[in-house]
Amino acid sequence: RAKAQGRNTYSHYLPCLTEEARARFELERSLRGALQNDELRLHYQPLVDLASGRCIGAEALLRWQSAEHGTVGPDRFIPLAEESGQIVALGTWVLHQACQQASQWRREGVLLDTIAVNLSPIQFMQRNIVQIVRDALDISGLPAACLELEITEGALMQHIAQAEETLKALRTLGVRISVDDFGTGYSSLAYLRRFALDKLKIDKSFLAGLPEDPSDSQLVQTIIALARNMQLSVLAEGVETGDQEVWLRQHGCDQCQGYLLGRPMAAAAFSDHWQAQQRG
Ligand code: C2E
Ligand code: MG
Ligand code: MG
Ligand code: MG
Repeated sequence: RAKAQGRNTYSHYLPCLTEEARARFELERSLRGALQNDELRLHYQPLVDLASGRCIGAEALLRWQSAEHGTVGPDRFIPLAEESGQIVALGTWVLHQACQQASQWRREGVLLDTIAVNLSPIQFMQRNIVQIVRDALDISGLPAACLELEITEGALMQHIAQAEETLKALRTLGVRISVDDFGTGYSSLAYLRRFALDKLKIDKSFLAGLPEDPSDSQLVQTIIALARNMQLSVLAEGVETGDQEVWLRQHGCDQCQGYLLGRPMAAAAFSDHWQAQQRG
């Protein structure tokens, strides 16, 4: 199509690209100050056990409230942080912050089974990742069994031997591993079986058509069966309707997460949510 429009397409496109590149550069530059300027926060989204309907934990999700750019979503700034290498510092901060918060909650009686933390592929491939995780546990006093690390299929399949070794070492620490956005990557089932894993998180894109769409519901059933077969637990992300929740429970999904069960919230709001639920 670009070819059909001729050479003019380029003169029209180039300034746009430059503008975009400049915006990215600007964003990346101010992201460098975000930690020191205290512009980062974690929000916490409930993880719910489907059988009991109880909130069993939370996924920590990073938020950037930039003085210069307003609220910037992780889908925009995480890729930038990955390109620039800042993800290593940000990711370490997230781990420490999440473990500290979960540990403090446990002291206050907000007894989460699970605090889930996303690991970027770059973090996961860091040579000292096991030490970084161990430090976060030691300093916070959080029991390792409470920490779940979320890793995407892509990160696992890129350098299989190293991934296998890192997963084993993390397992030895006592933390759990879940595969995030499952179904969107290119997993080799043979390797998935070899890896030390605990949970598959079904990507929210497959939930959209549930329960009506036959191909989405077939696919979700297949992933649930796969998890069963590999003796992993399985969570569905992006649950927005009561019908979806009922369907997932009927089809043997273990856990769910989504706007229906609770949006990502600031720490104080999450602990209110937890306490209201314990009373109810
Ligand atoms: P993710 O790990 O798959 O997180 C789930 C995303 O789905 C979150 O988006 C969450 O707000 C959103 N979500 C939850 N329930 C629903 C729902 O019912 N409907 C819809 N449409 N969306 C729902 P968020 O917070 O914008 O994060 C986007 C992605 O950014 C995350 O996807 C994760 O890949 C990345 N991310 C967030 N925080 C961190 C972090 O601390 N470190 C790293 N490495 N990545 C992070
Ligand atoms: Mg996640
Ligand atoms: Mg996900
Ligand atoms: Mg995602």
